[in-house]
Amino acid sequence: NATLVALIGRPNVGKSTLFNRMVKRRDALVDPTPGVTRDRHYARVSWEEHPFILVDTGGIDDEDDTITNHIRHQALLAIEEADVIFFLMDGREGLTPSDIEIVDLLRRTEKKVFFIVNKIDSPEIEDALLAPFWELGVDQLWALSGDHGYGYQTLMEGLLPYL
Ligand code: GDP
Ligand code: MG
Repeated sequence: NATLVALIGRPNVGKSTLFNRMVKRRDALVDPTPGVTRDRHYARVSWEEHPFILVDTGGIDDEDDTITNHIRHQALLAIEEADVIFFLMDGREGLTPSDIEIVDLLRRTEKKVFFIVNKIDSPEIEDALLAPFWELGVDQLWALSGDHGYGYQTLMEGLLPYL
């Protein structure tokens, strides 16, 4: 079975932009499993000939839900179904209480989690934008610009051993 990689994080952190970069081909989109996956997009992708399945999680469909509740739900789903989790945070916005809560939840899983600080569009701003996120106490942070591509090669090379 192909490795399942789930993209999670607050709305607007850049999940779908990264999804599109990883997918590249239009025909990579696959049908979601009916029922469980209303707001999730699945794609069959590969990196250096290693195929894997990528899942993008969508926005909030329940108006009464809070953003943190929503992400908590997505995180629990990802912990259950995914093999690898890409948890995206927004480097321009900085660390948010919601990020801290979800990281605490993700710490409890045995599954591989990549803590990604997105919107780092150039190397010159990397250290400054990454700084607040070290407070999370995670071993590794992955600096990324899903939009411009900075850090993408490094991230995918980090993923490779799990594919
Ligand atoms: P999602 O809600 O997590 O799926 O986020 P989107 O991928 O829809 O992106 C939300 C907004 O952030 C859009 O305006 C994107 O253009 C922008 N964005 C995404 N990735 C980057 C990035 O690497 N750098 C910058 N500067 N903006 C980004
Ligand atoms: Mg999206």
